[in-house]
Amino acid sequence: MTLAQPATFARTPASAAGRIVKAECILVSVPFQADVKLVWGFTGGGKNTFDTLLVRLETDTGLVGWGEAFSRAEDVALRSLVETRIFPLIMGEDAAAISKIKFKLEFGLQNFGRVGPTMYAISAVDIALWDIAAKAASQPLVNLLGGPFAREVEVYASLLRYESEDGIARAVREAIGRGYRHIKLHDITYPLIAAACEAAAGEATVMLDVNCPWSVAEALAMDARIAHLGLTWLEEPIWPPDDYRGLARVRAQGNHRIAAGENAGSLHDFVAMADAGAIDIAQPDVAKTGGVTELLKIAAFCAASAIEFVPHCALFGPGQIATVHINAAQRTVPLLERLYCDFEAEIYGGATLPVGGRVEVPHAAGLGIEPDMAVVDRYRIA
Ligand SMILES: [Mg+2]
Repeated sequence: MTLAQPATFARTPASAAGRIVKAECILVSVPFQADVKLVWGFTGGGKNTFDTLLVRLETDTGLVGWGEAFSRAEDVALRSLVETRIFPLIMGEDAAAISKIKFKLEFGLQNFGRVGPTMYAISAVDIALWDIAAKAASQPLVNLLGGPFAREVEVYASLLRYESEDGIARAVREAIGRGYRHIKLHDITYPLIAAACEAAAGEATVMLDVNCPWSVAEALAMDARIAHLGLTWLEEPIWPPDDYRGLARVRAQGNHRIAAGENAGSLHDFVAMADAGAIDIAQPDVAKTGGVTELLKIAAFCAASAIEFVPHCALFGPGQIATVHINAAQRTVPLLERLYCDFEAEIYGGATLPVGGRVEVPHAAGLGIEPDMAVVDRYRIA
């Protein structure tokens, strides 16, 4: 659905970014190939697919900005939320007033959740507004974030979940062959984790993300069992993800550096994690945690708190590109996450694919890369 409004906002002159006069939400779901289990509700119609929920904003000066909300399993409910709750609140606003718009949305929708779909939708708008701001300035986004510390960002292959030791070892070897020197696992059983580490030995560092399966006691037992594998970090070991006291116990009594934050909603969740002593590595997601604006605040907080800032990025659209710009603007440039799978078609025609385990920071204005609308139209969910 497209929400359009005539450009009749004559109250005060808008900035060069212009006033928002058109907003569209496009849900795309693209099949991918990977020798993996159907897990995490990623499936659509019995196939492995990943969603990209695009938000396209247009201003009366003709600028177009693209944003992305975290989405899985053909999330038409989230698309409806964006169209019915978010778009009516932003029409006619000066697109340059990014923080004001974000506050208006967060304050106006506070009863609908500070973590989850409402915040995903707000994140998408924020990313699109930063794209517009950078285009209005004729600068790549990274230049509005303080400028780049790097022209390229190193990427880690974030493997999915595999059926067998052979399968995961094959995937690790393949990723190394493609140039990756950092690999993250999502398996939760010892034999598969050990097989992956053996396959990577000496050629890639290995991180482990288990997506919140254990109690504190179970996590500590597994922590001890895998301690000899030399993992770079242990990510989200316990359920629920917002049990920061429990996470702090695993961190204090276990052997691993603890990473978490993809299930957080705002800066304040990271302050609470830090106050609890729960994390070594903060992982906000630009399409879940309030967009570029919120990630900049979280990055500053991490810098002042001796916490590493390594954004989560299980995204393939504008959120992924925004994360590249954010990472490039950090003094210690974080690794960029890329889920390890091969799509039937690429939304950006392959321009965002890592080469030799690295991606270039786009240098055109805004996010710097525009979606291939033929691919978007082919895979959009009606
Ligand atoms: Mg994770």
